[in-house]
Amino acid sequence: MAVHTGTVRVIEPATEKVLAELKEASVEDADRAVARAKAAYPAWKAVTPKDRANLMRRIAVAIDKHREELAQLEARNVGKPISDARGEVGMVVDVFNYYAGAPERLVGKTIPVAGGVDFTFREPLGVVALIIPWNFPLPIASWKVAPALAAGNTVVLKPAGLTPLTAVELAKIALEAGLPEGVLNVVVGAGRVVGERLVQNPDVAKVAFTGSTEVGRRIGELAAQSIKRVTLELGGKSANIVFADADLEQAAASAPLAVFGNAGQDCCARSRILVERSAVDRFMKSLETSVKALKVGDPLDEKTEMGPLISADHRQKVAAYLDDGARVAIRGSAPSGPGYWFPPTVLSPVSNSDRVAREEIFGPVAVIIPFDDEAEAIEIANDTIYGLSGSIWTNNAGRAMRVARSLETGTISINSNNSVRVTTPFGGFKQSGVGRELGPDALDYYTELKNVFLSTS
Ligand code: NAD
Repeated sequence: MAVHTGTVRVIEPATEKVLAELKEASVEDADRAVARAKAAYPAWKAVTPKDRANLMRRIAVAIDKHREELAQLEARNVGKPISDARGEVGMVVDVFNYYAGAPERLVGKTIPVAGGVDFTFREPLGVVALIIPWNFPLPIASWKVAPALAAGNTVVLKPAGLTPLTAVELAKIALEAGLPEGVLNVVVGAGRVVGERLVQNPDVAKVAFTGSTEVGRRIGELAAQSIKRVTLELGGKSANIVFADADLEQAAASAPLAVFGNAGQDCCARSRILVERSAVDRFMKSLETSVKALKVGDPLDEKTEMGPLISADHRQKVAAYLDDGARVAIRGSAPSGPGYWFPPTVLSPVSNSDRVAREEIFGPVAVIIPFDDEAEAIEIANDTIYGLSGSIWTNNAGRAMRVARSLETGTISINSNNSVRVTTPFGGFKQSGVGRELGPDALDYYTELKNVFLSTS
């Protein structure tokens, strides 16, 4: 993001051209957005569950109507392949439809007590601030906005300055679909300024953040001062564990996009590929074929599988990881400029103590770490500050379950590299975060539990 006296200049990473210019929000704008959300809260909270559910469904229909236009915008702004962007908008529609079921199902409990009747309610929190990153702007916005609205909260959404365009469109679409004014507000501005103000504004009840662990730590510190509710979805350095008894062809065919999808700018990237030593040579041969076959290029080309990185600064950061004598075993292709291109790269062999195995590179760089047995695979996989996702490839069901139960990570796939489903919980162990998104559990993080006792004496 280039900031020019109050302007956010949005760059298209594949062309380095200006895609849009927006007014940059100030601290006062952030406060005004919170005030609008606060004013809209009592009426939104009072909407009947049925009407709120119907409105959520209308928003889903409206997003679907704008599916292609949103996908094109996201593909151009993030530099992600158009086929991926279309799938992501489809997921956003599913997320709104899924949480449309929530308002009428937010039920409490009755609890046996002496002398009366005791029951619980799930109450909305009030104004929630939702701060999102640049890698999956629209899906991550929906994972927060949909459960927040379904539970009766009003929202201030802050997209990343690099990729604010689809968040602005989402708010317009929701308004067109009938969402009352002030229920969903978007502020586009710098994290340090607008983001921090949202976290500190006393009228914000909760902050839901997705982004780097470093910024998550800062948000946690600021929020602690007023005991705000906080959920954090942070970084990852996930393991893709391949045992010698697995279908190696399938594991190797699926491994590249599990790291290089979204040009490696994916918190779930399985960027540490742990391979049982006896299978390393066979696995590497198949992996090389798959990496070299990856189509890297114009995000708007239907056949493209990987686009550019988000910015010149970010490309420099990724490239710096290869400076200190990294052993490049496989390198795919990438166009030359303009555009922030970086070829898919596999380093091998790597030790889990190397910097490239410890830090989240957030680019198309995978490392191969050999292991000798199941116990060592688990030890290496868990030897990280992160715990977001991961995969296990094996044809031994008992081993798959033993390893899955031993991994300190929030989402695990067996013989698959898929982490995210609308209906299942997603979130991190350890420094990958606090709380869960998606599935029924996300609603717990947008509601407060109230207990009521009615005396019968
Ligand atoms: P970032 O932490 O730099 O920024 C995320 C958001 O926070 C942006 O909107 C930014 O403007 C805002 N921000 C920055 N500083 C702030 C501050 N001091 N106070 C309040 N807000 C502030 O992250 P990014 O570079 O946009 O995204 C990449 C990171 O996000 C990676 O670490 C990645 O792993 C993580 N991520 C995690 C998940 C997940 O679900 N766990 C999903 C996607 C991305």
